[in-house]
Amino acid sequence: MSTGFRALPSVERLLSQEPLQELARTYSHDALVGMIRQELAERRQAIAQGENPPSLDELVLALQGRLRRTWTVFPQPLINATGVILHTNLGRAPLSRAAIQAVTLAAGGYTGLEYDVAEGERGSRQAHVEALLRQLTGAEAGIALNNNASAVMLGLAAIAAGKEVIVSRGEAVEIGGGFRIPEVLAQSGATLVEVGTTNRTYAADYEKAITEHTGALLKVHASNFRVVGFTHTPATEELVALGRQRGVPVLHDLGSGCLLDTAQFGLAHEPTPQESINAGVDLAFFSGDKLLGGPQAGIAVGKQEAVQRMARHPLARAVRLDKLSLAALTATLLHYLKDEALREIPTWRMIALSPQVIHRRALRWRRAIGPRASVVKGESTVGAGSLPGETLPTWLVALDPAGGDGGADALAARLRSGDPPVIARIAEGQVVLDPRTLLPGEDAALVKICLEALREQETPGR
Ligand SMILES: *Cc1c(COP(=O)(O)O)cnc(C)c1O
Repeated sequence: MSTGFRALPSVERLLSQEPLQELARTYSHDALVGMIRQELAERRQAIAQGENPPSLDELVLALQGRLRRTWTVFPQPLINATGVILHTNLGRAPLSRAAIQAVTLAAGGYTGLEYDVAEGERGSRQAHVEALLRQLTGAEAGIALNNNASAVMLGLAAIAAGKEVIVSRGEAVEIGGGFRIPEVLAQSGATLVEVGTTNRTYAADYEKAITEHTGALLKVHASNFRVVGFTHTPATEELVALGRQRGVPVLHDLGSGCLLDTAQFGLAHEPTPQESINAGVDLAFFSGDKLLGGPQAGIAVGKQEAVQRMARHPLARAVRLDKLSLAALTATLLHYLKDEALREIPTWRMIALSPQVIHRRALRWRRAIGPRASVVKGESTVGAGSLPGETLPTWLVALDPAGGDGGADALAARLRSGDPPVIARIAEGQVVLDPRTLLPGEDAALVKICLEALREQETPGR
């Protein structure tokens, strides 16, 4: 054994250090010893590869840091200053106050989740949310599931397993994070039949492909990419007319679940579930945590018969929505029925923010942060596979790294190491912060963390 190994303290020695004694009062003895052993094993390996043995203090600090990072509740709250409203990596839609309250109430006690309180007998988890979905979309029926990926998967399995599903070549796409239409189709037990070309597909292309084996026509919204120029896709109405004529169900994966008209905010029009239902599709699928502004969920609305087949399919149980998300979802849907979505749902509030209001907020940050901050014009995006290429005009606060160590990247990393972490963007060598995506009450923390990061950068070695 090299002398380096002997320089490592024993588990007992480490446990007797005051900072670790403090941790021993919080965590179980066995868990703590396990963590120390793991750290020591990794150090031994590093020493074997030529690293110097750490000092006792270094080891204690490393263990403290490791515990603080790993034995903690996940996910950790942070400040989204990226200007991407629905940021998939940052958890998509923040919930409204009413939705948060609904989750809290459902979480801490018993609920009538599957109990009919009036009748005193078993009830349905879906009946209540279904009534709201019918009212909002005009559909005959609806069902809420774990996420849109599972809604599409279950819908295909229930309607078209063992049969062919016709998809435009331009729509047999990857939506992100492993959701690829051809693979989802394969998993559902259906066979993909691609028609048309990447840029142009006509109703006649679908028509030519219909055979006795056809189980459905599937339309997929291009939610995270745009095909521009010489393009064509048939309107939903055309597909529905064709489907009716040939007795083939039409399914529509909308992605976002946008119940309001995005055009009123200068954005492109995002297709809505109401439009799909109005066009007569058998099933429309959408997410709960994109433009709907609610919790992670997947919703299918459409014809009674088709929704019932989904509900009765054995996969339905595997992808059902949990009570906390159901509480948040129904609270979110109620905002639309009360005509208060723009005011109460954070996603819509952020979309609707005027540049003037954002400018005032940016000016306040600049005053508080000082001369290294400036206010510049910029653009926010909706994100999470909604309205690709579309932007909302905004005002940004740019932090000048001023030739500090590591430039903008290092400054952005310092903001991320704040408590709470602040996630910014880098543009043209500066770190930029977009007030649009901050929630009410986060301004003071953001300013504090910016000041700390800039100060640290001026005094390197910290
Ligand atoms: C986002 C998206 C999905 C996946 O939805 P999740 O709720 O994230 O599972 C599926 N299809 C389309 C078109 C989408 O935009």
